[in-house]
Amino acid sequence: MSGTTRLGRVLIIDDDLLVLKMMAAHVRAAGYAAEFTSDPEEFYAMARSWSPTYVVVDLVMGKVDGLTVLKKLAEMNSNAVVVIASGMGSSILDSARQFAAASGLAYGGVLHKPFRRADVAAVLAAGAHSPGPVEPDTDELDAWDAAAFELELRNAATSGDFALVFQPKVSCVDSSVVGYEALVRWDHPELGMIPPSSFVPRAESAGLITVVTDWVAAEAFGWFARSRHHTDEHLSINVSASELTGKDLCERMLKAAAHAQVSPGRIILEVTETSAIADAKSSLEVLTRLRLGGFQLSIDDFGTGYSSMTQLSDMPFTEIKIDRSFVQKLGKSGPSDVMVRSMVQLGSGLGIRCTAEGVETVAALKAVTEMGCDYAQGYFIAFPMDEQALEAWLVERLSLA
Ligand code: C2E
Ligand code: CA
Ligand code: CA
Repeated sequence: MSGTTRLGRVLIIDDDLLVLKMMAAHVRAAGYAAEFTSDPEEFYAMARSWSPTYVVVDLVMGKVDGLTVLKKLAEMNSNAVVVIASGMGSSILDSARQFAAASGLAYGGVLHKPFRRADVAAVLAAGAHSPGPVEPDTDELDAWDAAAFELELRNAATSGDFALVFQPKVSCVDSSVVGYEALVRWDHPELGMIPPSSFVPRAESAGLITVVTDWVAAEAFGWFARSRHHTDEHLSINVSASELTGKDLCERMLKAAAHAQVSPGRIILEVTETSAIADAKSSLEVLTRLRLGGFQLSIDDFGTGYSSMTQLSDMPFTEIKIDRSFVQKLGKSGPSDVMVRSMVQLGSGLGIRCTAEGVETVAALKAVTEMGCDYAQGYFIAFPMDEQALEAWLVERLSLA
């Protein structure tokens, strides 16, 4: 895949060359393209020509101070997400944050020095959710009428504007990689990155989600077949609720698997809990046919819907994915600990594997492991990465092992 299909472009300015090099290495390892300089003029020139998705600005530099850089970026109408790097105390960082926001810049967060690789990756991932250019203007997406949306979506599937990122899933017991979830990305030539959270629901309601699912299945199964994996690793893709009421999902998935020469037994189809249960009867038929076809089935975002234990035990799921909203609140006050523990127990009682998603900290990983969860997925383990970044991640992991 080309550089543009990575997670974004990160431009860094810092007066310390060692910091620059280290930061750039961390940024690249997290799946982003990185460029760096300690020269302000070169930085401004690159901010114009390279259109970075993120800029990382050191607050205290010899030649120029960070606020001057931010001011200049604002004058240039830069729409990059700003990350402030500093070893200063929190009050000065807070002032810098307010300054950035007041100047109309998209503020992505703070990187405290000294930083670790995980800190860099976490701040960039969090920045993707900041109100900035990474998220497209939803009004622009809304501006497409039904016909334009259909045209754009179908075009994306054939023109290479769709891309896949893969997020590894590991065993809680021995940290080995047990599988990958493929997640779709839409890099629109004019709107930039459109997150699935904005175009998937629209594709669903427009009856066009099969365009997305079929593209994802073909690409992801193809990738899985051509990359070398241990025989017990699996590949997960997301299928949409609306596809569970139609009758052809099973045939389409079988066809895609056969075409890529991947055994359906190594594929997990993830369906969100709310959707699987909403129309339980017709879903049951489709889910059963998929199981008979050999596919594994996962109930995604588990805990956010209201499925009863009876309904769950009636459905042929092979995995429960505990919703990240519970996992993120583990160890904090509130009912999440109890909820996660009982979801894990429910899974083990029914003989269904449990995956905790949204594992962002070592504390969360420890907690879900202690509760008996089988697998974990989340930013603490790895970010969703394009094919190349994933290969690099696997190589690095192997060398550490
Ligand atoms: P999901 O299936 O629950 O996918 C997990 C989402 O959580 C992904 O967001 C992933 O990037 C994010 N994530 C992973 N680890 C962490 C973590 O530690 N912390 C936090 N805060 N988030 C984490 P993404 O890729 O933006 O996808 C959002 C949703 O869009 C997905 O939620 C899924 O429902 C849908 N989606 C993505 N790809 C596809 C697809 O190919 N087909 C369909 N139908 N839906 C898709
Ligand atoms: Ca999923
Ligand atoms: Ca989920």
